[in-house]
Amino acid sequence: MTRADLHIHTVLSPCGDIEMTPVNIISRAVEEGLKIIGITDHNSTLNCKEIKRVGADQGIFVLCGAEITTKEEVHVLCFVEEEHLDELQRYIDGSIAKIPNDPDVFGYQLAVNASEEVVAQIDYLLISATDKSIEEVCEFVHSLDGIFIPAHIDKGSNSVYSQLGFLPFGLDADALEITQRADGTLLAEKDKSVRGKNFIKNSDAHYPDQIGSAYTFLEVNELSFSDVKRAIVSVAEKPKHGVK
Ligand SMILES: [Zn+2]
Ligand SMILES: [Zn+2]
Repeated sequence: MTRADLHIHTVLSPCGDIEMTPVNIISRAVEEGLKIIGITDHNSTLNCKEIKRVGADQGIFVLCGAEITTKEEVHVLCFVEEEHLDELQRYIDGSIAKIPNDPDVFGYQLAVNASEEVVAQIDYLLISATDKSIEEVCEFVHSLDGIFIPAHIDKGSNSVYSQLGFLPFGLDADALEITQRADGTLLAEKDKSVRGKNFIKNSDAHYPDQIGSAYTFLEVNELSFSDVKRAIVSVAEKPKHGVK
């Protein structure tokens, strides 16, 4: 059983703490006993590759992706193999509303390298919505053999429930993320649109001390993208989660 936290923001997200740098994120993941982490900044993959490199040195497998905002304002976690990351980024860049970011209001959006140097700053607001529907994003991510997970589905904002009321029929999600205190069994009893689905829990960390505060055990055979995907898809309906 491998401990995974697949929803972590970096200093690139306007709401991500300035301490969420590649080095700090990986050292915290090591402290928390995580073996797999997902880097999911809002609508940008810019910090992923550097964190993946730092993680590889410390024995942490990093899934590269983003938390994409669909046109319905639903947050979805999307991961692809590194070779497809630029294509995913071009897809987001071509579909997001480019509204200028005011760092004093929303926060800085920085790309940081392993030496803690700022290497880029994004000048448009990354939390804006794209013009792609949840179904379109799902289809595109799967066309890249990626992983598609609606985020925090039971949250009061930017979720499948808050924006749509239910999980769209036929949506080919690889798993559904539920919030830390949620009970997947109870959710499935109340809502037949999620019945039979597999649920995962993650921290949605914006600060270093939140990393690993919620996690899911994955049964991986090897630390590769395809095997981690297989393990996510096959998480049992009653998976082993942890919340601290
Ligand atoms: Zn979110
Ligand atoms: Zn998030």
